[in-house]
Amino acid sequence: LCPETGKKPRSIVFIQCVGSRDRRFNEYCCRIGCMVTLKQAILAREKLGKDVNIYVCYIDIRSFGKGYEEFYRKAREMGITFIAGIPSEIRVYEDGSIYLEVYDKLTCRLLGIKPDLVVLASGLIPNYDIERISELLHISRGSDGFLLEAHPKLRPLESAMSGIFLAGTCQGPKDIPDTIAQASGAAAKAVNLLASGELELEPLKGVVNEELCSGCRICEPLCPYSAIIMKAKDAAGFGNLKAEIFEVLCQGCGLCEAACPSKAIKIHHHTDEQYLDQVRAACLGEN
Ligand code: SF4
Ligand code: SF4
Repeated sequence: LCPETGKKPRSIVFIQCVGSRDRRFNEYCCRIGCMVTLKQAILAREKLGKDVNIYVCYIDIRSFGKGYEEFYRKAREMGITFIAGIPSEIRVYEDGSIYLEVYDKLTCRLLGIKPDLVVLASGLIPNYDIERISELLHISRGSDGFLLEAHPKLRPLESAMSGIFLAGTCQGPKDIPDTIAQASGAAAKAVNLLASGELELEPLKGVVNEELCSGCRICEPLCPYSAIIMKAKDAAGFGNLKAEIFEVLCQGCGLCEAACPSKAIKIHHHTDEQYLDQVRAACLGEN
């Protein structure tokens, strides 16, 4: 029913990709809009009957999952009209009536429609508290705002933080089957980890040379994983502060190494000499 009037609509227009696949808003596809729209359109047809005109305005229909293409065909066979174009404007007049124009790329015709109801398939964005969660767990976010996996192809279930796994729309837009598949994989990885009783760590870790460390504390707040603490090294335990790195928390990002004015921090297997040798080899072709 129309929310304004409470009456059965005679004409409904569904508009796809609102705020998605658009550089001004979200560049990415929401991955659920097409199929949710098809489901709603089919439900509307079944509940409201054949005398209601139902239109779907789309850029392209992404029916990529198992059985999805068949579902799309079913919608077409039920008399739902698909228009290959998105209206640029929806006009709402003072009497509450709605008018929109849309150019259909397939028939090359400009269509004018007066719907009673317009339904938008709006884009999918990260949850409002994703920033807090990312700070709390020290997990990076991608340019789209979702939590970032350790590697998109080789480690899609893991975050860069050892022992923290990702599942569902915190990592990116996805539908229910994909969410369940990812969650099952993440749960299996967590069970594996707990059953083995050991945590496998990357070998790249920061290490502090206490003789060089002046205790300036520059590195401490810089570490995105809170892996650095300052420890008093004098007999009374109050003075002579030195930085100390928790190997389990350190992810070897190198921020502290670059920031330390005393050059007291080194990342295992990454000395300045090694970097310089690589630069020399790249620039001069030396082996
Ligand atoms: S920045 Fe360097 S010198 Fe300063 S506390 Fe950290 S390790 Fe020590
Ligand atoms: S290398 Fe990165 S993660 Fe490790 S202690 Fe330094 S800043 Fe923190």
